[in-house]
Amino acid sequence: MSEKRDYYEVLGVEKTASADEIKKAYRKKAMEFHPDKNPGDKAAEEKFKEANEAYEILSDADKKSRYDQYGHAGVDPSAAGGGYGGGGFGGFEDIFGDIFSAFGGGGGFGGSSRGGRTRSNRGSDMKISINLTFREAVFGVEKKIKIKRNEACTTCGGSGAEKGSTSKTCDQCGGSGQVYVRQQTPFGTVQQVHTCDKCHGEGKIIDKPCPACHGKGVETKERTINIKIPAGIDDGQMLPLRGEGNAGPNNGSKGDLYVYMNVKEDQLFKRNGDDVYYELPITYAQAAMGDTVVVPTIDGKIKLKVPEGTQNDKVFRLKGKGIPNVNGRGRGDQFINIKVEVPRKLNREQRHALEAFAKITGADAHPEGKRFWSRVDAEAKESSAKKDA
Ligand SMILES: [Zn+2]
Ligand SMILES: [Zn+2]
Repeated sequence: MSEKRDYYEVLGVEKTASADEIKKAYRKKAMEFHPDKNPGDKAAEEKFKEANEAYEILSDADKKSRYDQYGHAGVDPSAAGGGYGGGGFGGFEDIFGDIFSAFGGGGGFGGSSRGGRTRSNRGSDMKISINLTFREAVFGVEKKIKIKRNEACTTCGGSGAEKGSTSKTCDQCGGSGQVYVRQQTPFGTVQQVHTCDKCHGEGKIIDKPCPACHGKGVETKERTINIKIPAGIDDGQMLPLRGEGNAGPNNGSKGDLYVYMNVKEDQLFKRNGDDVYYELPITYAQAAMGDTVVVPTIDGKIKLKVPEGTQNDKVFRLKGKGIPNVNGRGRGDQFINIKVEVPRKLNREQRHALEAFAKITGADAHPEGKRFWSRVDAEAKESSAKKDA
């Protein structure tokens, strides 16, 4: 998905590092690779830039938490296009999602907030969510999805003007699509920005609009898009596809398509980051005597040796048997939580066997119990000694 290095790796700190540790690590890297210290060294310059970028994200609590959750995709500056960041990550229900307002500049996703005075013809971004099974998310998958989006009008080639007709720059706004209105208020003069009413914000006036697109330069097309979903992606994560959103009006640039992952829970494997968990029930006899059990992992079955005397809630960790990291940082682990199941019902024969077992098994086989009852005895002695005094 991204060739970018992990920001924590760039600064050489753990994911759990404090703000102070991150700051220190950054200072060290910045000193080491500073261009003044490494004149003409391109590699050092790159490292210096990389460290700066990492620090910019990791020193900002909001960006850091987005990065921790979504990786580079969550903080990519270009993914944060026109006013995206604020509350952009939310719940997205159905398969085709909302397809946002047809034209850039109009809705909340447009470019108008970005460039200040310059009008942007950039098309709006689109969001969709796709459903994945647990295994598709773990191992990656290719999905074909259908979307409806604006593309350059095939009749006029995106200009919005009829063949033989031309468009000229709007004389009212000078092509910016915006006009400034000065208004007197009790607090002084306020300058307000309005969409130009002559060109409706397009910046151009067409004498004969294209009949197919009514001068917008775009038409709605249904497209099937192939999406390569990387192994290790998790529920709620987003994959930005550059330039797969709506085309902007009048040959404007294309918006992006944000694909949100909706991963179905697995019946057996529970996921936490790149690690996988499940509870393994074993019998009382297996726990006491030990056993070799064939257990599932996401790669298939393997043998797990349960040692003699294994206690309830013991957790075994199978290193590297978890989920591949979506940013290519190795694999997580498989954790197996042992649940000792006490026989729920005994027949006569079983009961006799267990009674015989109980008779010959003393406190030495149960050190936890032994410790507990010796504490009870000590407590009793202490309290009777107090009474006597
Ligand atoms: Zn057209
Ligand atoms: Zn205008």
